[in-house]
Amino acid sequence: MGNVLIALGGNVGDVRATFQKAIVQICGMAQGVLIARSSDYATPPWGDEDQAPFINACIEIETGLDPHALLFVMQKVEQKFGRTRSKERRWGPRTLDLDMIAYDDVSLQKPDLTLPHPRLFERAFVLVPLAEIAPDRVIGGIRVRDGLASVSTQGIERLPDTG
Ligand code: ATP
Ligand code: CA
Ligand code: CA
Repeated sequence: MGNVLIALGGNVGDVRATFQKAIVQICGMAQGVLIARSSDYATPPWGDEDQAPFINACIEIETGLDPHALLFVMQKVEQKFGRTRSKERRWGPRTLDLDMIAYDDVSLQKPDLTLPHPRLFERAFVLVPLAEIAPDRVIGGIRVRDGLASVSTQGIERLPDTG
């Protein structure tokens, strides 16, 4: 079984409801078990600031799939929730974005899959929810809590549980 950290994001539609359903789908399709789920956070848009705020969260799962098979499942789930990559601009508005942050200690540089995720430590919107569920995890030689301490978390707000 592989232990995987996945970042979820979106800013179109009822994103929090999408997350709930998407997590169930990922686990079902990936022969997976949900180990941990962070709170949801409202975060300022990154990379392209001219759009609505995002909601972000992170999960930890265990899966029987290898990294590429899991990426395929994640892309299927994105599509199920209305993601159409061909009509988007980079880092623009989207219903659901699923990024594989880390898969065990796998290091991979393929055209379609880089592990760990190369922009993780630039992104408070990933590090804040990730630090909630895996503060002591070391990814690419950096401890998550140390990565978080070196970015600005300005504008990021934890959302109350929906119950
Ligand atoms: P970013 O990767 O900077 O967060 P993005 O999420 O907006 O940008 P997408 O359009 O969702 O980018 O994905 C572009 C491509 O990134 C995908 O087609 C996928 O093959 C590739 N990719 C590479 N590494 C990863 C990874 N670790 N997790 C998810 N996708 C990845
Ligand atoms: Ca992304
Ligand atoms: Ca993505």
